[in-house]
Amino acid sequence: MLEKIVIANRGEIALRILRACREMGIKTVAVHSTADNNLKHVLLADETVCIGPPASIESYLNMPAIISAAEVTDAMGIHPGYGFLSENADFAERVESSGFTFVGPRADSIRLMGDKVSAIKAMKAAGVPCVPGSDGPLGDDPDENMRLAREIGYPIIIKASGGGGGRGMRVVHAEASLIAAITVTRAEARAAFSNDVVYMEKFLEAPRHVEFQVLADTHGNAIHLGERDCSMQRRHQKVIEEAPAPGISEEQRKRIGERCVNACKEIGYRSAGTFEFLYENNEFYFIEMNTRLQVEHPVTEMITGVDIVREQLRIASGEPLTFTQDDVKIQGHAIECRINAEDPKNFMPSPGLVTLWHSPGGPGVRVESHLYSGYKVPPYYDSMVGKLIAHGATRDAAFARMRSALSEIVIEGIKTNVPLHQEIFQHAAFQAGGTDIHYLEKRLGLV
Ligand code: ADP
Repeated sequence: MLEKIVIANRGEIALRILRACREMGIKTVAVHSTADNNLKHVLLADETVCIGPPASIESYLNMPAIISAAEVTDAMGIHPGYGFLSENADFAERVESSGFTFVGPRADSIRLMGDKVSAIKAMKAAGVPCVPGSDGPLGDDPDENMRLAREIGYPIIIKASGGGGGRGMRVVHAEASLIAAITVTRAEARAAFSNDVVYMEKFLEAPRHVEFQVLADTHGNAIHLGERDCSMQRRHQKVIEEAPAPGISEEQRKRIGERCVNACKEIGYRSAGTFEFLYENNEFYFIEMNTRLQVEHPVTEMITGVDIVREQLRIASGEPLTFTQDDVKIQGHAIECRINAEDPKNFMPSPGLVTLWHSPGGPGVRVESHLYSGYKVPPYYDSMVGKLIAHGATRDAAFARMRSALSEIVIEGIKTNVPLHQEIFQHAAFQAGGTDIHYLEKRLGLV
Protein backbone atom coordinates (compact mmCIF):
# COMPACT_ATOMS: atom_id res chain seq x y z
CA MET A 1 0.00 0.00 0.00
CA LEU A 2 1.14 3.55 -0.69
CA GLU A 3 2.48 4.84 2.63
CA LYS A 4 2.92 8.50 1.78
CA ILE A 5 1.72 10.60 -1.14
CA VAL A 6 2.12 14.11 -2.48
CA ILE A 7 -1.16 15.94 -3.09
CA ALA A 8 -0.38 18.00 -6.20
CA ASN A 9 -3.38 20.29 -6.05
CA ARG A 10 -5.08 22.88 -3.88
CA GLY A 11 -8.46 23.92 -2.46
CA GLU A 12 -11.36 21.61 -1.80
CA ILE A 13 -10.05 18.67 -3.80
CA ALA A 14 -6.70 18.66 -1.99
CA LEU A 15 -8.63 18.53 1.28
CA ARG A 16 -10.84 15.71 -0.06
CA ILE A 17 -7.74 13.67 -0.98
CA LEU A 18 -6.12 14.42 2.39
CA ARG A 19 -9.21 13.15 4.21
CA ALA A 20 -9.19 9.88 2.24
CA CYS A 21 -5.48 9.43 3.04
CA ARG A 22 -6.02 10.03 6.75
CA GLU A 23 -8.78 7.43 6.87
CA MET A 24 -6.51 4.96 5.13
CA GLY A 25 -3.42 5.70 7.22
CA ILE A 26 -1.53 7.20 4.27
CA LYS A 27 0.80 10.07 5.16
CA THR A 28 0.35 13.30 3.18
CA VAL A 29 2.65 15.92 1.70
CA ALA A 30 0.91 19.14 0.72
CA VAL A 31 2.76 21.02 -2.01
CA HIS A 32 1.64 24.61 -2.32
CA SER A 33 2.40 28.03 -3.75
CA THR A 34 3.46 31.01 -1.65
CA ALA A 35 -0.15 32.27 -1.89
CA ASP A 36 -1.47 29.10 -0.27
CA ASN A 37 0.33 28.85 3.11
CA ASN A 38 -3.01 29.00 4.91
CA LEU A 39 -5.00 26.53 2.83
CA LYS A 40 -6.87 24.15 5.09
CA HIS A 41 -5.21 20.97 3.81
CA VAL A 42 -1.77 22.62 4.06
CA LEU A 43 -2.46 23.23 7.74
CA LEU A 44 -3.57 19.61 8.21
CA ALA A 45 -0.97 17.74 6.13
CA ASP A 46 1.81 15.68 7.71
CA GLU A 47 4.40 17.59 5.70
CA THR A 48 4.34 20.63 3.46
CA VAL A 49 6.62 21.84 0.68
CA CYS A 50 6.39 25.26 -0.92
CA ILE A 51 6.88 24.72 -4.66
CA GLY A 52 6.84 28.24 -6.05
CA PRO A 53 5.20 31.62 -6.45
CA PRO A 54 1.42 32.16 -6.85
CA ALA A 55 1.27 31.83 -10.66
CA SER A 56 0.17 28.23 -11.40
CA ILE A 57 2.69 27.90 -14.19
CA GLU A 58 5.47 28.29 -11.60
CA SER A 59 3.89 26.16 -8.86
CA TYR A 60 0.98 23.77 -9.45
CA LEU A 61 2.08 23.22 -13.06
CA ASN A 62 5.77 23.05 -12.20
CA MET A 63 6.60 19.38 -12.83
CA PRO A 64 10.22 19.35 -11.59
CA ALA A 65 9.25 21.16 -8.36
CA ILE A 66 6.46 18.67 -7.62
CA ILE A 67 8.60 15.63 -8.38
CA SER A 68 11.44 17.04 -6.26
CA ALA A 69 8.98 17.49 -3.39
CA ALA A 70 8.16 13.78 -3.65
CA GLU A 71 11.88 12.99 -3.64
CA VAL A 72 12.82 15.08 -0.61
CA THR A 73 9.89 13.84 1.46
CA ASP A 74 10.34 10.20 0.46
CA ALA A 75 6.77 9.96 -0.80
CA MET A 76 5.70 6.95 -2.87
CA GLY A 77 3.06 8.47 -5.10
CA ILE A 78 1.51 11.66 -6.43
CA HIS A 79 -2.23 12.37 -6.62
CA PRO A 80 -2.91 15.12 -9.20
CA GLY A 81 -6.57 15.86 -8.27
CA TYR A 82 -8.40 17.53 -11.17
CA GLY A 83 -7.28 20.40 -13.40
CA PHE A 84 -3.60 21.45 -13.28
CA LEU A 85 -1.46 18.41 -14.27
CA SER A 86 -4.14 15.77 -13.86
CA GLU A 87 -4.56 15.07 -17.59
CA ASN A 88 -1.01 15.77 -18.63
CA ALA A 89 0.41 12.54 -20.07
CA ASP A 90 3.98 13.88 -19.94
CA PHE A 91 3.61 14.54 -16.22
CA ALA A 92 2.22 11.05 -15.56
CA GLU A 93 5.16 9.64 -17.50
CA ARG A 94 7.75 11.72 -15.66
CA VAL A 95 6.24 10.80 -12.28
CA GLU A 96 6.49 7.10 -13.07
CA SER A 97 9.93 7.26 -14.68
CA SER A 98 11.17 9.06 -11.54
CA GLY A 99 10.09 6.01 -9.56
CA PHE A 100 6.80 7.26 -8.13
CA THR A 101 3.24 6.00 -8.55
CA PHE A 102 0.91 8.30 -10.46
CA VAL A 103 -2.51 8.04 -8.81
CA GLY A 104 -4.38 7.94 -12.08
CA PRO A 105 -4.33 6.15 -15.43
CA ARG A 106 -1.25 5.14 -17.40
CA ALA A 107 0.29 7.93 -19.49
CA ASP A 108 -0.65 6.23 -22.74
CA SER A 109 -4.35 6.14 -21.75
CA ILE A 110 -4.24 9.86 -20.97
CA ARG A 111 -2.58 10.49 -24.32
CA LEU A 112 -5.07 8.35 -26.23
CA MET A 113 -8.08 10.07 -24.67
CA GLY A 114 -6.52 13.54 -24.81
CA ASP A 115 -6.61 13.39 -28.58
CA LYS A 116 -10.27 13.47 -29.59
CA VAL A 117 -9.87 11.79 -32.95
CA SER A 118 -7.99 8.84 -31.45
CA ALA A 119 -10.41 8.71 -28.49
CA ILE A 120 -13.44 8.49 -30.77
CA LYS A 121 -11.75 5.81 -32.85
CA ALA A 122 -11.02 3.73 -29.74
CA MET A 123 -14.55 4.23 -28.41
CA LYS A 124 -16.16 3.21 -31.69
CA ALA A 125 -14.06 0.08 -31.75
CA ALA A 126 -15.31 -0.75 -28.24
CA GLY A 127 -18.95 -0.26 -29.23
CA VAL A 128 -19.49 3.07 -27.44
CA PRO A 129 -22.07 5.18 -29.36
CA CYS A 130 -20.51 8.33 -30.87
CA VAL A 131 -21.85 11.45 -32.63
CA PRO A 132 -22.24 10.85 -36.40
CA GLY A 133 -19.24 12.55 -37.98
CA SER A 134 -16.20 12.44 -40.20
CA ASP A 135 -14.73 9.41 -38.39
CA GLY A 136 -11.28 10.88 -38.49
CA PRO A 137 -9.31 14.00 -39.44
CA LEU A 138 -10.60 16.28 -42.17
CA GLY A 139 -8.45 16.58 -45.26
CA ASP A 140 -7.87 19.67 -47.39
CA ASP A 141 -10.18 18.79 -50.29
CA PRO A 142 -13.12 21.26 -50.13
CA ASP A 143 -15.39 19.09 -52.28
CA GLU A 144 -14.83 16.08 -50.08
CA ASN A 145 -15.50 18.13 -46.93
CA MET A 146 -18.70 19.55 -48.43
CA ARG A 147 -19.82 16.05 -49.37
CA LEU A 148 -19.13 14.82 -45.83
CA ALA A 149 -21.07 17.69 -44.24
CA ARG A 150 -24.03 17.17 -46.56
CA GLU A 151 -24.05 13.50 -45.71
CA ILE A 152 -23.99 14.21 -41.94
CA GLY A 153 -26.57 17.00 -42.35
CA TYR A 154 -26.38 20.61 -41.12
CA PRO A 155 -25.85 22.00 -38.56
CA ILE A 156 -22.44 20.48 -38.01
CA ILE A 157 -19.58 21.35 -35.65
CA ILE A 158 -15.89 21.54 -36.54
CA LYS A 159 -13.74 20.49 -33.59
CA ALA A 160 -10.02 20.51 -32.90
CA SER A 161 -8.71 17.05 -32.05
CA GLY A 162 -6.38 18.55 -29.45
CA GLY A 163 -9.00 20.95 -28.07
CA GLY A 164 -10.14 21.22 -24.48
CA GLY A 165 -11.97 23.42 -22.03
CA GLY A 166 -14.65 24.26 -24.58
CA ARG A 167 -12.14 25.84 -26.97
CA GLY A 168 -11.41 24.97 -30.58
CA MET A 169 -14.96 24.42 -31.82
CA ARG A 170 -17.10 26.13 -34.46
CA VAL A 171 -20.72 25.47 -35.42
CA VAL A 172 -21.64 25.63 -39.10
CA HIS A 173 -25.28 26.06 -40.12
CA ALA A 174 -24.97 26.15 -43.89
CA GLU A 175 -22.64 25.09 -46.67
CA ALA A 176 -21.68 28.66 -47.56
CA SER A 177 -19.63 29.02 -44.38
CA LEU A 178 -18.19 25.49 -44.17
CA ILE A 179 -14.80 25.89 -45.85
CA ALA A 180 -13.96 29.14 -44.06
CA ALA A 181 -14.95 27.57 -40.72
CA ILE A 182 -12.61 24.61 -41.30
CA THR A 183 -9.74 26.94 -42.21
CA VAL A 184 -10.24 29.20 -39.18
CA THR A 185 -10.68 26.33 -36.69
CA ARG A 186 -7.58 24.67 -38.08
CA ALA A 187 -5.51 27.86 -37.72
CA GLU A 188 -6.79 28.42 -34.18
CA ALA A 189 -6.05 24.82 -33.24
CA ARG A 190 -2.51 25.11 -34.59
CA ALA A 191 -1.91 28.26 -32.54
CA ALA A 192 -3.63 27.10 -29.33
CA PHE A 193 -2.84 23.37 -29.20
CA SER A 194 0.11 22.99 -31.63
CA ASN A 195 -2.05 20.43 -33.44
CA ASP A 196 -4.03 21.38 -36.51
CA VAL A 197 -6.05 18.17 -36.81
CA VAL A 198 -9.76 18.99 -36.99
CA TYR A 199 -12.80 16.78 -37.48
CA MET A 200 -16.50 17.18 -38.13
CA GLU A 201 -19.53 16.07 -36.12
CA LYS A 202 -23.27 16.48 -36.28
CA PHE A 203 -24.18 19.45 -34.06
CA LEU A 204 -26.85 18.42 -31.56
CA GLU A 205 -29.10 21.40 -30.89
CA ALA A 206 -30.57 20.77 -27.45
CA PRO A 207 -28.76 17.88 -25.78
CA ARG A 208 -28.31 17.09 -22.13
CA HIS A 209 -24.89 16.30 -20.66
CA VAL A 210 -24.92 12.82 -19.15
CA GLU A 211 -21.70 11.13 -18.04
CA PHE A 212 -20.75 7.71 -16.71
CA GLN A 213 -18.30 7.12 -13.87
CA VAL A 214 -15.99 4.12 -14.15
CA LEU A 215 -13.35 2.48 -11.96
CA ALA A 216 -10.80 0.00 -13.28
CA ASP A 217 -8.02 -1.82 -11.45
CA THR A 218 -4.73 -3.26 -12.68
CA HIS A 219 -6.08 -6.83 -12.56
CA GLY A 220 -8.45 -6.47 -15.50
CA ASN A 221 -11.54 -5.62 -13.43
CA ALA A 222 -13.69 -2.65 -14.39
CA ILE A 223 -17.10 -1.46 -13.20
CA HIS A 224 -19.33 1.58 -13.72
CA LEU A 225 -21.07 3.55 -10.99
CA GLY A 226 -23.97 4.79 -13.09
CA GLU A 227 -24.41 8.23 -14.57
CA ARG A 228 -24.62 11.90 -13.63
CA ASP A 229 -26.53 14.71 -15.31
CA CYS A 230 -24.42 17.86 -15.60
CA SER A 231 -26.59 19.86 -18.00
CA MET A 232 -26.86 22.94 -15.78
CA GLN A 233 -23.93 24.87 -17.28
CA ARG A 234 -22.74 28.36 -18.00
CA ARG A 235 -20.03 28.86 -20.60
CA HIS A 236 -19.42 25.09 -20.69
CA GLN A 237 -18.77 25.19 -16.93
CA LYS A 238 -20.92 22.90 -14.83
CA VAL A 239 -22.89 24.69 -12.13
CA ILE A 240 -25.12 21.92 -10.70
CA GLU A 241 -24.78 18.14 -11.10
CA GLU A 242 -27.03 15.29 -10.06
CA ALA A 243 -27.13 11.51 -9.97
CA PRO A 244 -28.86 9.51 -11.25
CA ALA A 245 -29.78 11.49 -14.38
CA PRO A 246 -33.54 12.17 -14.49
CA GLY A 247 -35.44 9.87 -16.84
CA ILE A 248 -32.59 7.45 -17.63
CA SER A 249 -33.92 3.90 -17.41
CA GLU A 250 -32.21 1.00 -15.73
CA GLU A 251 -31.92 -0.62 -19.15
CA GLN A 252 -30.12 2.42 -20.63
CA ARG A 253 -27.82 2.65 -17.60
CA LYS A 254 -26.90 -1.00 -17.95
CA ARG A 255 -26.42 -0.85 -21.73
CA ILE A 256 -24.27 2.30 -21.85
CA GLY A 257 -22.47 1.47 -18.59
CA GLU A 258 -21.46 -1.91 -20.00
CA ARG A 259 -20.10 -0.27 -23.15
CA CYS A 260 -17.96 2.07 -21.03
CA VAL A 261 -16.68 -0.82 -18.95
CA ASN A 262 -15.90 -2.71 -22.13
CA ALA A 263 -13.97 0.29 -23.47
CA CYS A 264 -11.92 0.43 -20.24
CA LYS A 265 -10.98 -3.21 -20.66
CA GLU A 266 -10.13 -2.75 -24.34
CA ILE A 267 -7.69 0.10 -23.68
CA GLY A 268 -6.31 -1.34 -20.43
CA TYR A 269 -7.58 1.64 -18.47
CA ARG A 270 -6.83 1.92 -14.76
CA SER A 271 -8.12 4.25 -11.98
CA ALA A 272 -11.23 6.46 -12.06
CA GLY A 273 -12.53 7.90 -15.30
CA THR A 274 -15.57 9.54 -16.82
CA PHE A 275 -17.20 8.99 -20.19
CA GLU A 276 -19.01 12.16 -21.23
CA PHE A 277 -22.03 11.89 -23.51
CA LEU A 278 -24.46 14.27 -25.09
CA TYR A 279 -27.97 12.84 -24.70
CA GLU A 280 -30.74 13.78 -27.09
CA ASN A 281 -33.98 12.04 -28.12
CA ASN A 282 -33.19 9.07 -25.91
CA GLU A 283 -29.80 8.46 -27.58
CA PHE A 284 -26.30 8.72 -26.10
CA TYR A 285 -23.42 10.22 -28.09
CA PHE A 286 -19.89 9.97 -26.67
CA ILE A 287 -17.95 13.25 -26.80
CA GLU A 288 -14.91 12.73 -24.60
CA MET A 289 -13.35 10.82 -21.73
CA ASN A 290 -11.92 12.55 -18.67
CA THR A 291 -9.01 10.50 -17.38
CA ARG A 292 -9.12 11.79 -13.81
CA LEU A 293 -11.24 12.43 -10.75
CA GLN A 294 -14.11 14.84 -11.50
CA VAL A 295 -15.31 17.80 -9.44
CA GLU A 296 -18.76 16.20 -9.31
CA HIS A 297 -17.65 12.75 -8.08
CA PRO A 298 -19.46 13.16 -4.71
CA VAL A 299 -22.95 12.79 -6.18
CA THR A 300 -21.97 9.34 -7.41
CA GLU A 301 -20.44 8.50 -4.03
CA MET A 302 -23.66 9.51 -2.28
CA ILE A 303 -25.89 7.21 -4.35
CA THR A 304 -23.51 4.22 -4.47
CA GLY A 305 -21.71 4.40 -1.13
CA VAL A 306 -18.40 3.95 -2.97
CA ASP A 307 -15.51 6.23 -1.93
CA ILE A 308 -13.98 7.00 -5.34
CA VAL A 309 -10.80 8.63 -3.98
CA ARG A 310 -10.19 5.68 -1.69
CA GLU A 311 -10.62 3.33 -4.65
CA GLN A 312 -8.15 5.41 -6.70
CA LEU A 313 -5.57 5.09 -3.93
CA ARG A 314 -6.18 1.35 -3.57
CA ILE A 315 -5.94 0.81 -7.33
CA ALA A 316 -2.70 2.83 -7.45
CA SER A 317 -1.36 0.52 -4.72
CA GLY A 318 -2.04 -2.45 -6.98
CA GLU A 319 -5.07 -3.71 -5.04
CA PRO A 320 -7.99 -5.29 -6.90
CA LEU A 321 -11.49 -3.80 -6.71
CA THR A 322 -13.28 -5.30 -3.70
CA PHE A 323 -16.71 -5.32 -5.31
CA THR A 324 -18.30 -6.34 -8.59
CA GLN A 325 -20.85 -4.69 -10.85
CA ASP A 326 -23.63 -6.64 -9.15
CA ASP A 327 -22.64 -5.14 -5.79
CA VAL A 328 -23.21 -1.61 -7.10
CA LYS A 329 -26.68 -0.50 -6.00
CA ILE A 330 -28.03 2.96 -6.66
CA GLN A 331 -29.76 4.39 -3.63
CA GLY A 332 -31.77 7.57 -3.73
CA HIS A 333 -30.75 10.78 -5.46
CA ALA A 334 -27.92 13.26 -4.94
CA ILE A 335 -27.36 16.78 -6.18
CA GLU A 336 -24.37 19.12 -6.00
CA CYS A 337 -24.06 22.91 -6.18
CA ARG A 338 -20.66 24.38 -7.03
CA ILE A 339 -20.03 27.35 -4.76
CA ASN A 340 -17.95 30.00 -6.52
CA ALA A 341 -16.40 33.16 -5.12
CA GLU A 342 -18.03 35.41 -7.69
CA ASP A 343 -20.70 38.03 -8.11
CA PRO A 344 -23.99 36.12 -8.61
CA LYS A 345 -25.21 38.71 -11.13
CA ASN A 346 -22.22 39.45 -13.38
CA PHE A 347 -20.00 36.45 -12.50
CA MET A 348 -16.95 38.61 -11.77
CA PRO A 349 -14.54 36.77 -9.44
CA SER A 350 -14.72 37.93 -5.82
CA PRO A 351 -11.59 36.87 -3.94
CA GLY A 352 -10.80 38.22 -0.47
CA LEU A 353 -11.13 37.65 3.25
CA VAL A 354 -13.89 35.30 4.45
CA THR A 355 -15.04 37.11 7.57
CA LEU A 356 -17.66 34.53 8.50
CA TRP A 357 -18.27 30.92 7.44
CA HIS A 358 -21.10 28.75 8.70
CA SER A 359 -21.40 25.33 7.15
CA PRO A 360 -24.88 23.86 6.68
CA GLY A 361 -25.60 20.36 8.00
CA GLY A 362 -28.21 17.80 8.87
CA PRO A 363 -29.09 14.40 7.42
CA GLY A 364 -27.95 13.86 3.85
CA VAL A 365 -26.00 17.13 3.62
CA ARG A 366 -22.30 17.01 2.70
CA VAL A 367 -19.96 19.98 2.43
CA GLU A 368 -16.67 19.82 0.52
CA SER A 369 -14.93 23.12 1.12
CA HIS A 370 -11.61 24.45 2.32
CA LEU A 371 -13.16 27.69 3.58
CA TYR A 372 -13.01 28.80 7.22
CA SER A 373 -13.62 32.13 8.96
CA GLY A 374 -10.49 34.22 8.55
CA TYR A 375 -9.31 32.45 5.36
CA LYS A 376 -8.36 34.73 2.50
CA VAL A 377 -9.38 33.49 -0.99
CA PRO A 378 -6.41 34.33 -3.26
CA PRO A 379 -7.12 35.92 -6.64
CA TYR A 380 -4.85 33.62 -8.66
CA TYR A 381 -6.89 30.47 -9.06
CA ASP A 382 -10.25 29.05 -10.09
CA SER A 383 -13.13 30.74 -8.26
CA MET A 384 -14.70 27.52 -6.97
CA VAL A 385 -14.43 27.52 -3.18
CA GLY A 386 -16.60 24.57 -2.31
CA LYS A 387 -19.37 22.15 -3.13
CA LEU A 388 -22.63 21.58 -1.36
CA ILE A 389 -24.09 18.11 -1.81
CA ALA A 390 -27.54 16.88 -0.73
CA HIS A 391 -28.73 13.29 -0.79
CA GLY A 392 -32.27 12.00 -0.27
CA ALA A 393 -34.39 8.92 -0.89
CA THR A 394 -35.98 10.64 -3.90
CA ARG A 395 -35.07 13.53 -6.19
CA ASP A 396 -37.67 15.71 -4.45
CA ALA A 397 -36.20 14.83 -1.05
CA ALA A 398 -32.69 15.74 -2.24
CA PHE A 399 -34.03 19.05 -3.61
CA ALA A 400 -35.74 19.84 -0.30
CA ARG A 401 -32.49 19.19 1.58
CA MET A 402 -30.51 21.33 -0.87
CA ARG A 403 -32.94 24.23 -0.49
CA SER A 404 -32.64 23.97 3.28
CA ALA A 405 -28.83 23.79 3.12
CA LEU A 406 -28.70 26.80 0.76
CA SER A 407 -30.81 28.80 3.21
CA GLU A 408 -28.45 27.89 6.06
CA ILE A 409 -25.02 28.46 4.54
CA VAL A 410 -23.32 31.73 5.54
CA ILE A 411 -20.27 33.06 3.68
CA GLU A 412 -19.47 36.69 4.48
CA GLY A 413 -16.69 38.96 3.26
CA ILE A 414 -16.70 37.66 -0.32
CA LYS A 415 -19.51 37.42 -2.84
CA THR A 416 -20.64 33.93 -3.84
CA ASN A 417 -23.11 32.40 -6.27
CA VAL A 418 -25.28 31.02 -3.43
CA PRO A 419 -28.12 33.46 -4.38
CA LEU A 420 -28.00 32.10 -7.95
CA HIS A 421 -28.36 28.53 -6.66
CA GLN A 422 -31.25 29.59 -4.43
CA GLU A 423 -32.96 31.03 -7.47
CA ILE A 424 -32.33 28.01 -9.73
CA PHE A 425 -33.85 25.73 -7.11
CA GLN A 426 -37.12 27.66 -7.53
CA HIS A 427 -37.29 26.98 -11.29
CA ALA A 428 -40.20 24.71 -12.22
CA ALA A 429 -38.40 23.36 -15.32
CA PHE A 430 -35.38 22.32 -13.27
CA GLN A 431 -37.64 20.79 -10.63
CA ALA A 432 -39.33 18.76 -13.37
CA GLY A 433 -35.91 17.44 -14.51
CA GLY A 434 -34.26 16.94 -17.87
CA THR A 435 -33.38 20.53 -18.85
CA ASP A 436 -30.78 20.78 -21.65
CA ILE A 437 -27.28 22.32 -21.65
CA HIS A 438 -28.56 25.70 -22.92
CA TYR A 439 -31.27 26.05 -20.29
CA LEU A 440 -29.33 28.10 -17.73
CA GLU A 441 -27.83 30.61 -20.16
CA LYS A 442 -31.24 31.15 -21.77
CA ARG A 443 -32.91 31.54 -18.40
CA LEU A 444 -30.27 34.06 -17.30
CA GLY A 445 -30.78 35.97 -20.53
CA LEU A 446 -27.17 35.39 -21.55
CA VAL A 447 -27.96 34.06 -25.04
P1 ADP B 1 -13.89 20.11 -24.37
O1 ADP B 1 -12.81 19.08 -24.30
O2 ADP B 1 -13.40 21.41 -24.88
O3 ADP B 1 -14.70 20.21 -23.11
P2 ADP B 1 -16.09 18.62 -25.61
O4 ADP B 1 -15.93 17.74 -26.79
O5 ADP B 1 -16.30 17.95 -24.30
O6 ADP B 1 -14.85 19.62 -25.55
O7 ADP B 1 -17.26 19.62 -25.89
C1 ADP B 1 -17.53 20.68 -25.00
C2 ADP B 1 -18.96 21.14 -25.15
O8 ADP B 1 -19.22 21.58 -26.48
C3 ADP B 1 -19.99 20.06 -24.89
O9 ADP B 1 -20.27 19.91 -23.51
C4 ADP B 1 -21.17 20.61 -25.66
O10 ADP B 1 -21.79 21.65 -24.94
C5 ADP B 1 -20.53 21.22 -26.89
N1 ADP B 1 -20.46 20.23 -27.97
C6 ADP B 1 -19.39 19.47 -28.32
N2 ADP B 1 -19.69 18.64 -29.37
C7 ADP B 1 -20.98 18.90 -29.69
C8 ADP B 1 -21.90 18.39 -30.67
N3 ADP B 1 -21.53 17.44 -31.54
N4 ADP B 1 -23.14 18.89 -30.70
C9 ADP B 1 -23.54 19.85 -29.82
N5 ADP B 1 -22.73 20.38 -28.89
C10 ADP B 1 -21.48 19.92 -28.81
